[in-house]
Amino acid sequence: MYHRPKKSLGQHFLFDKKIIDRIIDAAKVQPQDTVIEIGPGLGVMTRMIGERARKVIAIEIDKSLCDSLKRDLSGQTNIEIFNADALDYPYESVENGFKVIANIPYNITTPILFRLMKVREKIEGMTLMVQKEVAERIIAHPGGKDYGILSIAIQYYSVPEIVFIVPRGAFRPTPKVESALLHIETLEMPKIKVKDEAFFFRVVKTSFSQRRKTLQNCLKQLGLKKEHLERAFASLHIEPKRRAETLSIKEFGLLSDSLTEKTQN
Ligand code: SAH
Repeated sequence: MYHRPKKSLGQHFLFDKKIIDRIIDAAKVQPQDTVIEIGPGLGVMTRMIGERARKVIAIEIDKSLCDSLKRDLSGQTNIEIFNADALDYPYESVENGFKVIANIPYNITTPILFRLMKVREKIEGMTLMVQKEVAERIIAHPGGKDYGILSIAIQYYSVPEIVFIVPRGAFRPTPKVESALLHIETLEMPKIKVKDEAFFFRVVKTSFSQRRKTLQNCLKQLGLKKEHLERAFASLHIEPKRRAETLSIKEFGLLSDSLTEKTQN
């Protein structure tokens, strides 16, 4: 079938079966699994997932691709194709323990990740093709420029890893940026326990709001009393002149817990 790729939908297709096999391997697909594939495109990977999993739910926003997928894959009865925006799909209604595989446009990586994180208890793992720089930010540890809000937001609930770098030439049409396959194992419990999750994320966001400023200066924006902030730093032995990018998730948790107490006093 001829399909003219739609740039607006980030259509860059994979044809190399060796690479597709490595993606399905990375997702640890087992014969009993239900796999949700986001953005099946021309369906090369969809068919291959269908051969290895019990059931595939493929969500494709492009109506014309959906129609041809339904035709091409009609022989594989374990594949269901939905014409929908993956951001709106009711993942809540899928039975627990599904896996997600997605080679999706890079402008929706973060919204999709946050959408999926909301239903993380139901997900056994996510394997996503993402822009290499974004993958590096997601897996980053304290101490470098890649580490930030995105790293913490994802690592709070999961363990992400880069499985391999995918050369631009693997896609048709060739994208402008390099890609990386990211595998994310969701955690049953968040990595750390905090008293107030919303406040924890507020502290993280505020701390990174101006990367060159010290923690002390950034956190002034929370509107707490100066001595409360100073006491929290002192009791946790966190040097107020440090920058946000040097703090571990655990340290952010301790800091936010200590400041939560202060706000309640
Ligand atoms: N997975 C295929 C196609 C990758 S191209 C492959 O590897 O070859 C990205 C696909 O995501 C396209 O088919 C595009 O139409 C689809 N897509 C883009 N935005 C989407 C959205 N919001 N929801 C579901 N699918 C989307």
